[in-house]
Amino acid sequence: MVKAVYPGSFDPVTLGHLDVIRRAAKVVDELIIGVLVNSAKKPMFTLEERMELIKEATAEFPNVTVKTFHGLTVEFAKENDAHLIIRGLRAVTDFESEMQIAQTNHSIEPDIDTMFFTTSLEYAFLSSTIVKEVAFYGADISKFVPPGVIRAFEQKKQAINGQQM
Ligand code: ADP
Repeated sequence: MVKAVYPGSFDPVTLGHLDVIRRAAKVVDELIIGVLVNSAKKPMFTLEERMELIKEATAEFPNVTVKTFHGLTVEFAKENDAHLIIRGLRAVTDFESEMQIAQTNHSIEPDIDTMFFTTSLEYAFLSSTIVKEVAFYGADISKFVPPGVIRAFEQKKQAINGQQM
């Protein structure tokens, strides 16, 4: 029984994340997505919103669940009895920091390893940050995010407009 965790901010979940989730869910028995509570970052979507958006987008995968966590990823993995951490690699720019994180995690907890999925080419440029930027200026984001996230952006915009009136 191979259990893995896939940690990240997912602010919001993109088709790039979902590509990694789809592929990882095929090679492990159970995949737990860990939505990070990071007090240093100010997210656009609340923890609950981020979780709900992932849940909706991954409903088709029976072996995928979504949880929140704070603190060390290796602790989250241990609490869930997982020995594998999943991460996605987009470009060489991801490589250096991801390697550093993976090696640090492995030295803290030698029983836990990191498995990387290289991004599918069509999502190589895609990040939550880019999506937030282009969505803010009204661009069509349907090629980048699942339908629930498009809806969530529209609701955010309406809420902001409502406050400005
Ligand atoms: P973090 O704040 O931990 O980087 P993210 O939500 O930005 O969290 O990303 C979580 C993981 O998903 C990271 O391993 C990141 O490299 C990966 N990832 C993000 N976007 C993509 C993408 N377009 N294709 C493949 N992997 C991705």
